[in-house]
Amino acid sequence: MPQPFYDADHSAFREVVREFVNREVAPNLDEWEEDRSTGRDVWKSAGAHGVLGIRIAEEFGGGGMQDYRFRCVVQEEFARVGAAALASAFSINEDIVASYLTTFGTPEQKKQWLPGMADGSVVASIAMSEPAAGSDLRGMKTTAVRDGDEWVLNGAKTFITSGFSSDLVLAAARTGEREGRPQLSLILVPTSTRGFARGRKLRKLGLHAQDTAEIAFDDVRVPMGNLVGEEGRGFHHLTAQLPLERLSIAWRALCAAEAALDWTIRYTSERKAFGERVIDFQNTRFRLAEMTTEVDITRTFLEQSILAYNDGSFDATLGAKAKWWTTELQNRVINACLQLHGGYGYMDEYPISRAYADARVQTIVGGTTEIMKEIIGRDLAGRHRA
Ligand SMILES: Cc1cc2nc3c(=O)[nH]c(=O)nc-3n(C[C@H](O)[C@H](O)[C@H](O)COP(=O)(O)OP(=O)(O)OC[C@H]3O[C@@H](n4cnc5c(N)ncnc54)[C@H](O)[C@@H]3O)c2cc1C
Repeated sequence: MPQPFYDADHSAFREVVREFVNREVAPNLDEWEEDRSTGRDVWKSAGAHGVLGIRIAEEFGGGGMQDYRFRCVVQEEFARVGAAALASAFSINEDIVASYLTTFGTPEQKKQWLPGMADGSVVASIAMSEPAAGSDLRGMKTTAVRDGDEWVLNGAKTFITSGFSSDLVLAAARTGEREGRPQLSLILVPTSTRGFARGRKLRKLGLHAQDTAEIAFDDVRVPMGNLVGEEGRGFHHLTAQLPLERLSIAWRALCAAEAALDWTIRYTSERKAFGERVIDFQNTRFRLAEMTTEVDITRTFLEQSILAYNDGSFDATLGAKAKWWTTELQNRVINACLQLHGGYGYMDEYPISRAYADARVQTIVGGTTEIMKEIIGRDLAGRHRA
C-alpha cells in the first residue's frame, strides 16, 4: 500500500485552514468578484491565523514550515470553495517572491520584507512580463542602470498579478549584455518609490477577485542593496525558482479539478431529467469515471513531485511536465463538469461557472503549455547529443 501523503500535523493544520476559509473566504467571494479585489483584510487575517507566510522562517514571523505539503493543504482548502483568485495571489507572495528572498536575499532584505509578507501587511508582485516579451524573456526592454549607489529603472511591465495593489515589486530588468545576449538582474522596488506608476487595471476573463495590471518605471531610483541575488544572474535565478512556481500552479490545477468533480457529482445526484437523476445516465457515469481516473492518476504523480520538491530532487523538466499536464487536465475536466450542470453551469451562482473562467489562464501563466513541451523536448533531445 502506498504511504499516505499527509500526516497528523497536516491534518491538524487543515482544521485551522478550513475554519479560516469557511469564515473569512467563502462568504466574501461574490463581493470580491464584484469589487475586482479582495482588499487587505483577508491578507491580514490569513497572516494572523498562520495561513500566510507558512514557509517563511520563524525569525521573520512566518510558520517556518519548509515541508511544501502544508502549502498543499492551503491550496486544497481554497479550491474546495472556488477561491482561485486569492489562492494565486497568495501563491505569488509565498511561493515566488518570499521564496526568491529566502533563497537569494540578503539578511537586510529578509528583515525588511519577510515579516510584512508573513503578516499580510505587505503584498508582493513579480514583474517579468512586458508588452513585447512574455515567453521570450530575452526580449525584455526594462533596464536598470547603476548611478552612484543607486539603480535607475526604466521600462514597462504588463499582466502583473496584484500590480495594482502591491506594496513591493520584484522586477526583472536588463543590467547588461554578454556576447549579444541580455543579462538580467532582479531588483526590489517598493511601489511607493518616486517614478513607479500603475497603469491600467486590466479587464480579464476570470480571476476577477485579484487585480492584474500594467506598471511602469520612469527613472525609478532604488538603493544598490535592493539587488536580489547576483547582478547579471537573473536568468539563472529564474531558472532555479520557476520549477516551484510551476509545481504550485499544477497543484492548484489538480485541486480545482477535484473540487469541480465533487460539485458535479453532488449536482448530478440531485438534478433530474426524464424522471432519472442525471448521474444515473450512463453517459454521466462514464464521463465522471473517466475524469476521476485521470485526476486520481495525476494526483499520484503530483504527490510524488511534491515529495521530490521536499527532498530537493524536483527539477525544471519535472516542473514542466507537472504544469502542462495538470493545467490542461483542469481545463478539460472543468469544461466537461460544466456541461454536466447544463444551463445552471453557466450561471454565476454555481461555482463551476467561475471555476471555468478562472481555469483558462492556467495553461498560459508561469510558462505556456507550448513552452513546457519545449523544455521537456529539449531535455529529451539533449540526452543523446553526440
Ligand atoms: C492573468 C495573468 C496573470 C499574470 N501574472 C503575471 C505576473 O504576475 N508576473 C509576470 O511577470 N507575468 C504574468 N503574466 C504573464 C504570463 O506569464 C505570460 O502571459 C506568459 O508567459 C505568456 O507570454 P505572452 O503572453 O507574452 O505570450 P507569447 O509569448 O506572446 O505567446 C503567444 C503564443 O505563442 C506561443 N509560443 C511562444 N513561444 C513559442 C515557442 N518557442 N514555441 C511554440 N510556441 C510558442 C505561446 O505558447 C502562446 O501560445 C500573467 C498573465 C496573465 C494572463
